[in-house]
Amino acid sequence: MKTIEHWINGTYSPAGERTASVTNPATGKVTAQVALASVQDANAAVAAAKAAFPAWRDTSLTRRTQILFAFRELLNARKGELAAIITSEHGKVLDDALGEVTRGQEVVEFACGMPHLMKGSYTENASTTVDIHSVRQSLGPVAIISPFNFPAMVPMWFFPVAIAAGNTVIIKPSEKVPTAAVWMAELWKEAGLPDGVFNVLQGDKVAVDSLLTHPDVKAVSFVGSTPIAKYVYQTATAHGKRVQALGGAKNHMIVLPDADLDLAADAAINAGFGSAGERCMAISALLAVGDIADELVAKIAQRAKALRTGDGLRGCDMGPLVTSVHRDKVSGYVDAGEEAGATLVVDGRAVAPDAEGDGFFVGPTLFDNVTTDMSIYSDEIFGPVLSVLRVDSFDDALATINANPYGNGTAIFTNDGGAARRFQNEVEVGMVGVNVPVPVPMAYYSFGGWKNSLFGDTPAHGTEGVSFFTRGKVVTTRWVDPSHGGINLGFPQNA
Ligand code: NAD
Repeated sequence: MKTIEHWINGTYSPAGERTASVTNPATGKVTAQVALASVQDANAAVAAAKAAFPAWRDTSLTRRTQILFAFRELLNARKGELAAIITSEHGKVLDDALGEVTRGQEVVEFACGMPHLMKGSYTENASTTVDIHSVRQSLGPVAIISPFNFPAMVPMWFFPVAIAAGNTVIIKPSEKVPTAAVWMAELWKEAGLPDGVFNVLQGDKVAVDSLLTHPDVKAVSFVGSTPIAKYVYQTATAHGKRVQALGGAKNHMIVLPDADLDLAADAAINAGFGSAGERCMAISALLAVGDIADELVAKIAQRAKALRTGDGLRGCDMGPLVTSVHRDKVSGYVDAGEEAGATLVVDGRAVAPDAEGDGFFVGPTLFDNVTTDMSIYSDEIFGPVLSVLRVDSFDDALATINANPYGNGTAIFTNDGGAARRFQNEVEVGMVGVNVPVPVPMAYYSFGGWKNSLFGDTPAHGTEGVSFFTRGKVVTTRWVDPSHGGINLGFPQNA
């Protein structure tokens, strides 16, 4: 059986003693083994990134962005291959995998503009004959630790910006989906990226801990569940690093009584069950305001029952969950919801999937009459389970969202501009949609939540992403002539 290896200094680096199984979630079959790094493997990856850094930092912006353009062209031409890899290891349907690659590619396109994004400013005659200018410089080796649910897009939120800005990178992908990262490493090599600038370290906690504590790693970008994000933030900042740690989510959608209920039902289906709910921007709680709930729930139920669940290569609407453990966890939440007294309108536990073998399927599941004390509401389930909560007013809906510890994404469905405006102004969430259920910002804006959905203060990509991967320097210059002589111990003042 194939073993998926590390990629260090421009070539594959073999696995040591520890490995883990990689599974196709649609069939339940183990398809490969993946290397799990030792501390020595991690040290080798960081050493490669450190050695490559000075030359890459000093490579002209013109040359750096030429390589990014070449990577973009290769990715665009071959994105189907990457999408197929994602479907085979993650399970999401092929169209959705292609969509993920396209959204990642948009960050590559954004980073192709790095010559403009890294421009500093210049002030002539700030003081008499004194000029000041600012520059932004790269940091050094940076670590990117990514989750299973976006094997290509989430690493691409970070590495195009980091690399274009002159840093070198060590990616630690999720051990559940290890192939996408090494596929992209080969693409970088073909695009002309020097060896050591992009490294892939496969592994688990050993690899992560090594990166978080290694003195030569200057910054850490993490995406994953909230407890691990918090741990990563605390550990890496305690080791003097810059950290952006994006965590979990519980995203709410409000439907006001004046909304078009058919459009709202379509949106709830797309955002609740796309990628089997394994998206950090999935809608998992729908707040139905006023007396629309019966009609809205009926419309969502009708649509949910019509969805085809199965192998992502068979043109189905929804694929499997990532592992059998996760499937059992999601089913366990459905059991708990029933026991707590919520109304189970559509039950995905007994789904008959369109797939061969023994895949990890739960079909679309819809609960009504959910309350905030139930675990199906309070916990991030990360599966195709949509909970409807009935609330009396807009104010109750807004208060419910603002009381939730997560703050990643949210959406309001209404035709009332005033209500929408008040919502986007008062809601304590980082990414807001108005009649848009999955408001993932474009690459030139930044992606990131509030509260327990982001630790550290810098979100991904956009100009804030550029700031994260660079540090500022301000230079004050005077070209001296004899009139500048003399002793003065006072604090420098402008004149
Ligand atoms: P996870 O937290 O289990 O794993 C994320 C990464 O951390 C992986 O690379 C994993 O190997 C590593 N890891 C796991 N346990 C660790 C430990 N004990 N110590 C050190 N490292 C560890 O997350 P996941 O299950 O892969 O991904 C799903 C989660 O990611 C969900 O909570 C989802 O909301 C979140 N997510 C958030 C965003 C966002 O933008 N906020 C985006 C995508 C996913």
